[in-house]
Amino acid sequence: MAYPQFKCCIIIGAGPAGMTAALYLSRFHRKVTVVDAGNSRARWIPQSHNCPGFPAGLSGDELLARLHTQAAQYGTQVTRARASQLERVDGGFRVTDSGGEQYHARTVLLATGIEDVLPPQPWVEKAVGCGALRLCAICDGFEASDGDLAVYGPLHSAIEHAKFMRTYSAAVTLVQSDDEPVDAQLRQRADELGIVLMKKPVDLLFDGERCGFIGSSGKRYDFDTVYPVLGSRSQANLAIELGARVDEGNELVVDAHQMTSICGLYAIGDVVSALNQISVAVGHAAVAATAIHNVLPRNLRG
Ligand SMILES: Cc1cc2nc3c(=O)[nH]c(=O)nc-3n(C[C@H](O)[C@H](O)[C@H](O)COP(=O)(O)OP(=O)(O)OC[C@H]3O[C@@H](n4cnc5c(N)ncnc54)[C@H](O)[C@@H]3O)c2cc1C
Repeated sequence: MAYPQFKCCIIIGAGPAGMTAALYLSRFHRKVTVVDAGNSRARWIPQSHNCPGFPAGLSGDELLARLHTQAAQYGTQVTRARASQLERVDGGFRVTDSGGEQYHARTVLLATGIEDVLPPQPWVEKAVGCGALRLCAICDGFEASDGDLAVYGPLHSAIEHAKFMRTYSAAVTLVQSDDEPVDAQLRQRADELGIVLMKKPVDLLFDGERCGFIGSSGKRYDFDTVYPVLGSRSQANLAIELGARVDEGNELVVDAHQMTSICGLYAIGDVVSALNQISVAVGHAAVAATAIHNVLPRNLRG
């Protein structure tokens, strides 16, 4: 039995994925609840140049503001809270937030994204803001073209990222964040790709414009752009606790309609096992919102 106070859908997360889904569902005349902790990855974007339809680029804050304004026009309201529990109940789902508030709906759409693992330095946000540090090569590798670039991460995963960066520059250095020894095979690979290898530095610095590393000899090495590739933390816990299937990186596995392995629980955007991009998040949202609308009883207009 579905309770009368049940909404059609609870959307958890109000980044580009969640807000696009809210827009679609509201325009299908569906009542949704959006719960958001307010820490979208998009807030870190100083200026995006690969967001279709914005030839002059736009900041992540501006994109989020536009998405919120657009969804609000159709009645979407966002509750600022962290969802701390997701349960199956008769007729749908119950979400409890960290303040103890409870929400009920027939379906749940998880759009909680991921969290980047960042270097621990206090200036990281400033360095990302001016492009000295960049976190997404697919997003902004073009802007770093022909610069002196560093990829900073564990040897064996960073070599792949460094290879990717060679599309953009002939000057790419892999700076190890670990003490893994470089074997002959990896050295040969780096040589063939024209990638310089640098052992784990003693420090990472930012002078207000550029980042640099202090090597073990005390010498300083500056770069036009540093890409830390230190991994990310999944934000799929609510679904995992319900038993939803994930890949080896704890990202949710979904079907062609963005439904997880739990009937009625959908997932979109970075939290899903897919390319972490705004265009992908927005595409997921359109697919999931339309699937949810079609799976619910028809809301015939009187
Ligand atoms: C520096 C940087 C630059 C980037 N540049 C680009 C670019 O140029 N082009 C591009 O396509 N992509 C870019 N990206 C990637 C882009 O930001 C992400 O792909 C996009 O934000 C994913 O959207 P999302 O809605 O899935 O997740 P997010 O935008 O991360 O939103 C998730 C939301 O869910 C909330 N949340 C999480 N857990 C809970 C919970 N339990 N309860 C309630 N709310 C919760 C979070 O607080 C957040 O508000 C960039 C990312 C970074 C970090």
